[in-house]
Amino acid sequence: MDALAATPGGTAADAAGLAALVRLLAGRGAVVLSGAGLSTESGIPDYRGETGSRRRAAPMTFQEFTGSAAARQRYWARSHVGWRAIAAAEPNAGHRAVERLRRSGHVSAVITQNVDGLHRAAGTRTAVELHGGLHRVVCLDCRRTSPRTELDRRLEELNGGFRDGPARGNPDGDAELAPESVAAFRVAPCAVCGGVLKPDVVFFGESVPRPRVERCFELVDAAQGLLVLGSSLTVMSGLRFVRRAARAGTPVVIVNQGATRGDELAAARVGLPLGAVLTEAARRVRAS
Ligand SMILES: [Zn+2]
Repeated sequence: MDALAATPGGTAADAAGLAALVRLLAGRGAVVLSGAGLSTESGIPDYRGETGSRRRAAPMTFQEFTGSAAARQRYWARSHVGWRAIAAAEPNAGHRAVERLRRSGHVSAVITQNVDGLHRAAGTRTAVELHGGLHRVVCLDCRRTSPRTELDRRLEELNGGFRDGPARGNPDGDAELAPESVAAFRVAPCAVCGGVLKPDVVFFGESVPRPRVERCFELVDAAQGLLVLGSSLTVMSGLRFVRRAARAGTPVVIVNQGATRGDELAAARVGLPLGAVLTEAARRVRAS
């Protein structure tokens, strides 16, 4: 086990799972499906995982966001503070190991449920961001997309110093704020048409665009194996790819601390920290 030998809680099942993971990678052409658990070692909380703190408020739905200016003011005020943590986060050993495995051909594609952009920051420019990315903003009226950094500058001009408010972060770039802070926040409209800006992420109550889903099904159909990293597969948007792979007889290996909804479909499971597991797996695959 080398790097993992000192990991508390490592079991015989984890050792067998790691061996299965290495075999799957050695076959080349594995597709990665990653979730919030992969980013916790970058300091981004996972509100569903064992390591995460459960958020106090439910995330805003698409219907709420589009339904009222007050909801959008609340969203952008909280997001303006929460974005600081996302923008400052850096890829961890897990993201870097995935990118090494992709360059060596052991991983053929990366699909992520995360909106934090950390696969891209690690060099995986081709990662399919299933739920979009917080680093982009889209206008709901003219559909123009623009960088979040651009909006951030405008929001900063309108709300100088606002970021210093009390914040408790969530993985979707949300932060919890007092209602009086929210009420003072000034929202920026689209710089081109004056329309409503929304982060280019899929909200609860909204569907992943169909072409993006089809692209992911194609990747999974062509895969030699599916590797789930740090997702409890709670939402169907990720679970459907595990079901698709299992139906086709494509082996599924899950690395996640805690049970997942895909466990009974998996050929093997590893319940150890992702950075250490992926670093060790990448080392063994190169050695084999
Ligand atoms: Zn516009």
